[in-house]
Amino acid sequence: MRLVDQHCHSVVRVELDPDGFASLITESDRPPAAGTTPFDSSIGMAVRRWCPPALGLPAHAPAADYLARRSELGPVEATARLLAAAALDACLVDTGLTAAAGHPLLPLADLAAAAGAEVREVVRIESIAERVDTTAAGWSGATRSALERAAAGAVALKSIAAYRCGLAVPPQPPEEAEVVRAAGAWLRGPRTRLTDPVLLARLLWTAVEVCAPLGLPVQVHTGFGDPDLRLHLADPALLADFIRAVEPSGVPLVLLHGYPYHRQAAWLAAVFPHVYADVGLTVSHTGARAAQVLGEVLELAPFGKVLFSTDGYGLPELFLVGAAQYRYSLARLLADWHTDGACSAADASRIEGMVSAGNARRLYRL
Ligand SMILES: [Zn+2]
Repeated sequence: MRLVDQHCHSVVRVELDPDGFASLITESDRPPAAGTTPFDSSIGMAVRRWCPPALGLPAHAPAADYLARRSELGPVEATARLLAAAALDACLVDTGLTAAAGHPLLPLADLAAAAGAEVREVVRIESIAERVDTTAAGWSGATRSALERAAAGAVALKSIAAYRCGLAVPPQPPEEAEVVRAAGAWLRGPRTRLTDPVLLARLLWTAVEVCAPLGLPVQVHTGFGDPDLRLHLADPALLADFIRAVEPSGVPLVLLHGYPYHRQAAWLAAVFPHVYADVGLTVSHTGARAAQVLGEVLELAPFGKVLFSTDGYGLPELFLVGAAQYRYSLARLLADWHTDGACSAADASRIEGMVSAGNARRLYRL
């Protein structure tokens, strides 16, 4: 079954040294335990399980052999083979990141050609807001216009407020006087990273207002990520008041990743009609346990509310790992359900179709 990858980033298509490669298979930018490499982890093992066969080596080939084979083929051929093996129909690409391991990411048209997939853009709202040059009094209007322009060519907007101020977003937009005050401080500062909770809340509410007439969803980072994150502030349960307040607008909210709060995300998807739960990144990083974790999402989340993604970033390997881990673990989970008498074969294939592509096609109108 070909998949719709509803959240990913682009890749680098250059020769990477072993350290550069290893730095992209972990969420950490810190060194691993002495005497080990990032391959000594569930995701590292998953890379060695799924990727060597795409480059003509046996599964579980040692990391050094894999990297030697990758460099023998060259980055263009290796990237093409790995992305083809992922068998993706469409990729919705968050363009908020522009480089990985110090190398620029491929432009979207090149990614589409390499993956043989339709590629559509997801716009990261904080990146847009950080580039807006205006006055304090003009900040709200200028960011709204910038988001409107960006949304015109995109399939969704995306927020990383979880990284910046956490997900306890208030259930109404901040007062304009407060926004002007906060914008003044931001515009006088070095403007490197937008972290002010008033501006971030205003921005998220503006994203909802911009998406409503266009029928576009807003993707929200939740759950684990790199060491920048304060994990407890990325619990999607913190979004409950905001989610309730957004409901009348009809704007769908897609809770990305989720782990270890994927059960909270599943509950939110179960009780709010406009909330969806993503399984990307989680399924890649949980390795041999991915079927159990996917099972935990599907305990509560209705099958029409769960979305596959890879969250591939930098390495084409992460697209193949995300897709292969997902296919394998969902098939295993559904086979268990079927053997157990929990569902019919027809139910299993309907669930697979919805989560793999159908839900995303409906939500993003692909
Ligand atoms: Zn991402």
